[in-house]
Amino acid sequence: MATLHVLGSAGYHPNEWRHTTCLALPELGFVLDAGTGFFRLRDLLRRYAGGVVDVLLSHAHVDHTIGLTYYLDVARDAARPGTLADTPGGLTHRFRLHGAPRHLEAVRSGLFGGPLFPLPCPFEMRPVEAEFTLGLATVRTVALPHPGGSTAYRISHPALAGDLAYVTDTRAPAVPRGFVAGVRTLVHECNFTDDLRELAEASLHSTVSEVLALSWESGAARTVLVHHNPLVEQIAGRALEDPLRIGTRPGIVVARDGMAIEV
Ligand SMILES: [Zn+2]
Ligand SMILES: [Zn+2]
Repeated sequence: MATLHVLGSAGYHPNEWRHTTCLALPELGFVLDAGTGFFRLRDLLRRYAGGVVDVLLSHAHVDHTIGLTYYLDVARDAARPGTLADTPGGLTHRFRLHGAPRHLEAVRSGLFGGPLFPLPCPFEMRPVEAEFTLGLATVRTVALPHPGGSTAYRISHPALAGDLAYVTDTRAPAVPRGFVAGVRTLVHECNFTDDLRELAEASLHSTVSEVLALSWESGAARTVLVHHNPLVEQIAGRALEDPLRIGTRPGIVVARDGMAIEV
């Protein structure tokens, strides 16, 4: 059994209720993206077996990567506040970043070691392939349309009740149906309500109805909507749950920070 922890459920910027995108699957050793919600990973780190954390990056936009610069506090020895652990780099855990080569390079040379952050990037970089294995997990990827591109992941792992797909920052209509067919859990961005479809098309994001259509076609038993527009808090209330009856649709979960979902 595995649990998906929602550490950040907003896109673009945090608001009073949501940090930007970060999800944790400690039983699998994975973190999905590293927005501002990444600071909350510290409380889950002891559940990562072997001291290794594999971060799957959808892309390099800062609402998905800025949290990587919090690593000194996230992976510091909680038992000895103010000191660093005795592992290489002074961290309690080893972090490996997985993503498209250009996104990894943007993190390595753009986010770290220059004008934006004083220290060099401490993470091992692993460019993704169409399919790769990590421990017991088999991970499939697909490149999707977004400014600068994005990568979606489909994870198979014995601890999961069924495959989990993580698809964010893209147009749901552009997601190859075969990539998500038969998943048990679809975790998908839902940045815009239907009335903002023009904005969704211009910025290469998704609307509620588009994600629900993909969800239906995938056959997913559960769809977790993440990456909510921080200015439209009613996306998790009136605009989303009432007119579209999200709240009454079985298997549709509007993610909120702090949620723990069995997957
Ligand atoms: Zn984003
Ligand atoms: Zn983006």
